[in-house]
Amino acid sequence: MAIDMRPILVGETKKIALDYDFSLTDSEFPFDTAIDGVVFEKPAHIDGEIVNMGGYIRLRAVVSVDYDAECARCLKPLKRSFKVEFERTVVNQGELVNTAEDDGDDYIEMVDGKLALDEAAAEQLMMEFPMKELCSEDCKGLCSKCGKDLNEGECGCPKKEIDPRLAILQKLLEK
Ligand SMILES: [Zn+2]
Ligand SMILES: [Zn+2]
Repeated sequence: MAIDMRPILVGETKKIALDYDFSLTDSEFPFDTAIDGVVFEKPAHIDGEIVNMGGYIRLRAVVSVDYDAECARCLKPLKRSFKVEFERTVVNQGELVNTAEDDGDDYIEMVDGKLALDEAAAEQLMMEFPMKELCSEDCKGLCSKCGKDLNEGECGCPKKEIDPRLAILQKLLEK
């Protein structure tokens, strides 16, 4: 959804409230929203506001999404949610003046009075999205020999601690 900024630009209002869902998947974002092992079954959500601060316009929002993932060690399905805070100063396209203090990350551009908020919010979400999921910090994972979930108990495979470098050699010898 593109936010129509006119009411705030012409002084009709000082604040535009944001509270809506947007899809991370059926979109034409110029970046990838696919993450291995992660399924976005439900849309993401934006909650926040765009405020005329007197002299400049500030966007403040929280972007959140529920998703399905799997534990990186034991592959157990997980239901997770993730949210990021998203704050920007809204400027007109081309208006960005780079000064030494600005890293440019703090701005979002509107084009013809419209703000492509979904795209910017999705990008922020993807940038900070967790790289891997664990069902718990001390997940024991699966046995590399028999595949049993070691969180449910020992499997009985001989578990000699093998130096990982030796293990690679051993695999080669088995071939
Ligand atoms: Zn696990
Ligand atoms: Zn085993």
